[in-house]
Order: sequence, then C-alpha cells, then structure tokens
Amino acid sequence: MSHFQSVARVPGDPILGLMEAFRADPSPAKLDLGVGVYKDAQGRTPIMAAVKLAEQRLLSSETTKGYTSGHGDAEFGELLLRLVLGQDSPLLAGQRGGQRAGTTQTPGGTGALRLTADFLYHCLPGRGIWLSDPTWPIHETIFAEAGLAVHHYPYVGADNRLDVEGMLAALEQVPSGDVVLLHACCHNPTGFDLSRDDWYRVLDVVRRRELLPLIDFAYQGFGDGLEEDAWAVRLFAAELPELLITSSCSKNFGLYRERTGALIVCAADHDKLLDVRSQLASLARNLWSTPPAHGAAVVAAILGDPVLSLQWQTELDAMRERVLRLRHGLVEALQPFGLAERFAHIAVQRGMFSYTGLSPEQVRRLREESSVYMVGSGRANVAGLDEQRLGELAAAIARVC
Ligand code: PMP
Repeated sequence: MSHFQSVARVPGDPILGLMEAFRADPSPAKLDLGVGVYKDAQGRTPIMAAVKLAEQRLLSSETTKGYTSGHGDAEFGELLLRLVLGQDSPLLAGQRGGQRAGTTQTPGGTGALRLTADFLYHCLPGRGIWLSDPTWPIHETIFAEAGLAVHHYPYVGADNRLDVEGMLAALEQVPSGDVVLLHACCHNPTGFDLSRDDWYRVLDVVRRRELLPLIDFAYQGFGDGLEEDAWAVRLFAAELPELLITSSCSKNFGLYRERTGALIVCAADHDKLLDVRSQLASLARNLWSTPPAHGAAVVAAILGDPVLSLQWQTELDAMRERVLRLRHGLVEALQPFGLAERFAHIAVQRGMFSYTGLSPEQVRRLREESSVYMVGSGRANVAGLDEQRLGELAAAIARVC
C-alpha cells in the first residue's frame, strides 16, 4: 500500500512558475518584472555593504549558538520598536516599567502574520479579518488556514484607481471587534497608497466602529523614506490604545533569506502587554519554537551603531531613489507613444510594485511577443526594470495597447 497514493499535486506558486518560465526563455531581450525582490542596475539583488560589515563583526564577536528566547533577540526588539514607532514614541517612554509596546521576533514578515493569525484565532475567537481587494495573496491563505473568516473591502477598482470611498463605506459595515489589515505603505500588489487625509478618515472609522487594526509594514524606507513611511503607523499608535504591526526586514535590509521580522503589539498598558506577550511566546513555541538568530543580530548590529546605521540608510535611500527614477523614467519613455498620460499612475505609485492596468491578455502578449514577464494581474515589479531598457519596454507595451 502507498501511504501517499491519495496525495494530489497542487499547482505551484504562479509567481515562482513565472520565474521558471523566465529562466527557460532563451531571448537575450527578456525582462523579468515578476517576483518581488529589489534589483540593482546590474539586475542583481545585492547584499548591502552595511550588512556585510555587520556580519564581519558578528563573526568575531558571536560566542554562542544557544537558543534565543521565544520573543527573539531583545536588542533587536528594542531597536526595531524605535525604528517603527519612532525614537521618542510615548509608547516606549512610560514610567518605569510602563512601556506599552513590545516586539516578538518572527521568521520574516510572513512569520509575523502567521503568529498574528494564530493569536487572533486562539485569543480573540470569532473575530473576522478584512483584507484589501486586492492584497498580497499570502494574506488570504495565512488567515483562512489559521481558521479565521476572511472578508474584503474594496481598494482598487476595475478602473485601476484607488477606491477610498468604497473602502470607507465597506469599513463602516464591518462588525465591531473585527480586524482590519492595512498596508502601511507600498501597497502590494497595487503600489497605490492612502494619502494622509485618507488615513485620518480610516482612523476615524476604526475608532468609531471599535475595529482592531493590523498594519502590515513590509516596506519601511521603500516608499518615501524611513520616517515618512512610518507616519500612518505612528498616527495609529498615538491615537489608539491597541494595535498590531507586522514588520519585515527582508526588503529594507535586503535580508530576504535570513527570515527577519517581528510582530509588534501595542497594548493599553504594560500589564496587558505582558498578558498578550505571554500568549505570543506560547503560540510561537508551537510554530517555530524560537526564531532564527542571524538576521536579527545583523539588524541589531546596524541599528545599534550610528556609523553602520547611517551607511545602511544611505544605501536604502539609493535603492528607493532608483525605484522612483525607474517609475518616472518609464512614464517618460511611454511619452513618444502617446501613452504617458494613460500610465501616469506608475510615477504616483510607491514601492516595488505597480498595478499597470494592463489586462491578462496584454500581459500574455507581452510575454509571448516581447519576453516581458509580469504577473497576470498586470502587476509589474518596477524594481526589476533596467534603466537602459525603458525605451524597449515602452515600445513593447505600446505594441499591445
Ligand atoms: N507583507 C507584504 C505585503 C509583503 O509584500 C511581504 C513580502 N512579499 C511580506 C509581508 C512578507 O515578507 P517576508 O516574509 O519576506 O519578510
């Protein structure tokens, strides 16, 4: 008898399938705008120099490979809290022992979302979760598979425009107590972010309807800057007694494979924070026991050292500016084809991704006729563009428009 007889094959992740098709394509003119990693002008995903320096230091200073605690590296936790909530956040000041926010280190932002899902299911039973339509597909599966009822609020409509009115109207109908997942910046997959005015309006609904916000913060520093991107997170942390934040160091430290992230909990008081944290440590014990150490040690070494920190920020600024240049460059390259206005939103969007507004049929033709690879939804990884080849890409887009 075969124990595995009944195990069927499931289709692979469509984005990873796209990567394989790209690799197999012999065309020298091929362009990969699929998977969401930053690439430099040479098409590489580099290790940041500040990370290399931190790793060299760690190599000589590390003294043990013993387990870290359930909440991970404490120094990483404190430094990350300050990066996310701000150096002078009142949530961290409190009187002695009065801190209202704490970090639980997780394997990447994905791990933070998974831990959040288990926390909601076990500790706040019956709460539904509301995701933007569309959202990062893994949001859908993480919360559904953890046992939560998953619902959606409108975000970007069929006209490829941010639908704030639709979003707010939907949130007005969300049952009190439910959880609303918001993208802090660099919305994945659309690239459309809320304006500050929009955030105030969302805050108002969240407060009135007594919803619990969960802010996914996977791209701090990739939108408008480290501080600017944290603006909405800090607004919610200042205005609300309770908040969940999932933070990822994959993109801004380029630590993708080191699986470095955290769940940050803001509670009404220190005592309640400790209650929640006790539950998180217990849930994490069943998921991964203790988190991986290396990436967090690198982040702590960088954020804890003013010189390394400055170097890291300079490198991060350069990455963000490159993506912004590519956005503007592509719109300019579309100008001679009379398409600059139609695609003007690409320069307005933020982060790695752009909902281009191209249809699945146009995406298919781009792949088959010009070896340009992007996700069927028309999502392009702008950070995967080649500055020298924007003209070629614009011409390929013009051929299918
Ligand atoms: N949230 C969003 C919106 C993302 O785009 C990503 C990465 N693609 C993550 C969370 C998770 O990032 P990681 O697990 O790689 O840190």
